[in-house]
Amino acid sequence: MKLRPPTQIAFTRFTSCSGCQLMLLNCEEHLAALSAHIAVQEFPLASSSRTLQGPIDLALVEGSISTPAELERLLDLRRRVNLLVSVGSCAISGGVNCLVPGERSQAVDQVYGQAQSGMHTFPPQPVHRFVTVDCQVHGCPPERHDLLEALASLECGGWPGRQLMPVCMECRILENRCLLLEAGHPCLGPVTLSGCHARCPSLGVGCEGCRGDLAEANQEEMFRLLLETGLSERVAQRRLSRFDRGSL
Ligand code: SF4
Ligand code: SF4
Repeated sequence: MKLRPPTQIAFTRFTSCSGCQLMLLNCEEHLAALSAHIAVQEFPLASSSRTLQGPIDLALVEGSISTPAELERLLDLRRRVNLLVSVGSCAISGGVNCLVPGERSQAVDQVYGQAQSGMHTFPPQPVHRFVTVDCQVHGCPPERHDLLEALASLECGGWPGRQLMPVCMECRILENRCLLLEAGHPCLGPVTLSGCHARCPSLGVGCEGCRGDLAEANQEEMFRLLLETGLSERVAQRRLSRFDRGSL
């Protein structure tokens, strides 16, 4: 369904670092054109005003859900919104908020100490665990072009395209030396959705898999290759399960 301009948009933040919002603000040269098509009701990183009046055509949701108050706000948003888009790994899979080594209660004690009294939280959950999500924009954060393409497609009544290749394809096109096969360094490029232009491997850093898993990825073979780099089974398993718990 084509959305009627100006499209009423909310970029809503839950437990997150605001990096996904920042990525949209970073689309500097396109913001003027974008503003001709959209009316922003909420965008915490760009404006402290929060109007959220009446129906919303499109909600971009950043962050995982980790408090009862956030859950209430999410349910309210879903009731008002026509299309709801999970943006970034925190919203799609829980993201970095789930990377707590060991017991979560110990981590909460260490970080908040006495200040946690009266604080009500639960382990961070992806948005799709609670409400219907219409589409996802992957990445941590998503690329600028991913966000612009999603907005343009949804406004025109279509769906954003999905990447169907692994990061390795982009990495090899760039003629990078393979960290995994040639340097014995852990890299999740073979099982991770492309679209980031192999940014981390191009800088000599193994892919962490933040864009989520390719549906048809051979996880068993990836696990075997990670063990060959010297990772223990526990660490390899943890690494593989870090970012994919939520692809639609
Ligand atoms: S997905 Fe990444 S960039 Fe976006 S809010 Fe979460 S941690 Fe920040
Ligand atoms: S460095 Fe990583 S992303 Fe690049 S080709 Fe090797 S495994 Fe794939």
